[in-house]
Amino acid sequence: MKKRNNYKQVIIDSHTHLGYWPSLNIAKKNLLESMNDHNISFSIVSFDGSEFKEEGRFNKLIPQLNATKKLLAITKEHKNLLPLIWIRPHTEENIEDLEAFLIKHRQNIYGLKFHPYTSRLRISDPRVKPYLDLAKKYRLPVLVHTATDKYSLFKYLIHVAKEYKDVTFIAAHAILNGNNSLTIPYLKSLSNLYVDTARVDISFISKLKEENLLDKVLFGTDNPIDGYETLNNPIYENYFNNTIKLTKQEYDKLMYKNALKVYNLNLKDLLN
Ligand SMILES: [Zn+2]
Repeated sequence: MKKRNNYKQVIIDSHTHLGYWPSLNIAKKNLLESMNDHNISFSIVSFDGSEFKEEGRFNKLIPQLNATKKLLAITKEHKNLLPLIWIRPHTEENIEDLEAFLIKHRQNIYGLKFHPYTSRLRISDPRVKPYLDLAKKYRLPVLVHTATDKYSLFKYLIHVAKEYKDVTFIAAHAILNGNNSLTIPYLKSLSNLYVDTARVDISFISKLKEENLLDKVLFGTDNPIDGYETLNNPIYENYFNNTIKLTKQEYDKLMYKNALKVYNLNLKDLLN
């Protein structure tokens, strides 16, 4: 595999996964190898916390703390992986245990991940509230899948982002299979709202630039959802090659500096 970046560019992929795809070992291998081959410095990663068996999809249903423990064991060995807790508010009610776990591992947890579609629950549902309260209390950013299915609508996230002004939300995919530009007015009006670039065409980044919103977007890919090849998707080639010719300063924001800010990361500490 040819290296994409000839100069040393820091890249943080703010949206990646681990899970039994098809096995944990293969998913881990695909994630780490593709990161290496594309010079990704760090990946923010969550462990598949599906709450229901999906038709035609091989997935194991694992309690949120068990999954997080597995993830922490992996990220301890691989310092380029930064873990989120994938929450399961539809089927779990162990919020006190989660909080105790969070206190114990605070230094190693970077945020929460919520997937309304696989949880079959809107983020505005009252059952998510205790988790958002934890996010607020411990200053954890929340990565939220947004799409056009009945659970993942962007408007539910907006509702919650307005209520929880102190919590930072990242709208994953900036509405998957939807109109990315619908996020623009809210990126302007809500200081606690961001989007990521997972499966987002780079033309949207040009629009964000026109709107002076390059501070509000984090590079992310969904790696390794399509296996090792995920990052070879032409969508991401455009980001790695900066085909829209962002300035160095703009490109750095997109590829890692906004992620540093949102996730309260210190690059020097991470590189040590
Ligand atoms: Zn994802």
